[in-house]
Amino acid sequence: GLSWEDEYQLQRSIGSGSFGQVFLVLHKEEQREYVLKSIELQTASDEGRQQMELEVQLLRTMQHPNIVAYRDSFIDRSGHLCILMEYCEHGDIFTHLQDLRRTQIPHESQLLEWFTEIVWALQSLHQQKILHRDLKTQNIFLAGSRPPLAAKLGDFGVAKVLSSTADLAKTQIGTPFYMSPELINSHPYSYKSDVWGLGCVLYEIVNGHRAFDAQSLNGLALKIIKGSYTPISASCSQSTKQLIQAMLTKNPSHRPSLKEILHMPLIRSKILPAY
Ligand code: ADP
Ligand code: MG
Repeated sequence: GLSWEDEYQLQRSIGSGSFGQVFLVLHKEEQREYVLKSIELQTASDEGRQQMELEVQLLRTMQHPNIVAYRDSFIDRSGHLCILMEYCEHGDIFTHLQDLRRTQIPHESQLLEWFTEIVWALQSLHQQKILHRDLKTQNIFLAGSRPPLAAKLGDFGVAKVLSSTADLAKTQIGTPFYMSPELINSHPYSYKSDVWGLGCVLYEIVNGHRAFDAQSLNGLALKIIKGSYTPISASCSQSTKQLIQAMLTKNPSHRPSLKEILHMPLIRSKILPAY
């Protein structure tokens, strides 16, 4: 097999993922940086392996300015599955905002812009009958060498391709903090569960802490099924508060669709150029 070292030069490690290491590499000829996810296949379970294959297949088909771009994948000499993708210079939005908040308060308009970009990305997934299923601030990346940074949705590890007619997927994983009430009640994951995830994301980037948090899984589940999140901090606009509230509605059918979200004046004003 190929060795990625022939084409790329290792720069540094940028973290470890659930299946292996994540590196920053430099394409020697292009002199451009990419991210390389190196996944040890031997230690992965069959399920884990299938998940990885799915992630690669999905990444390959996704082409959207707000989805982390896939570049290449191969199995290297030592049997690692290597996935090469676009490098998002500013890392994930969770870490970025955590660092930023040490010295300043992020602008609501900037946060809404990033949020809108993620809604676009998610809409393009949903149009292809794909659920993301793991929306969280650690899976949203910021790219660009200078402002304005673009938000990009990444990590399709648990995304699920739906059959063309089915609206729902039965298998369920994800991160407990972002689990929707219907998921806790063992109902299938749906498009509206991704909207709940978006609600948790907007809540978190605006408030600087998670909507639902607890010491135990049971405590967390209880808060989620009651829909009792920590009150939204007062500093954001009324319309942002209303949007968060709408997305965090217990009944999935009462949550706004992505189309409805994109038609809200608050969000629309981000799409249309300034008059
Ligand atoms: P996993 O979800 O498989 O556990 P991640 O995709 O979260 O692994 O990657 C682990 C680390 O690498 C995280 O700190 C993340 O911020 C960083 N990372 C992953 N992909 C990129 C990327 N495309 N650009 C920049 N940083 C990335
Ligand atoms: Mg991740």
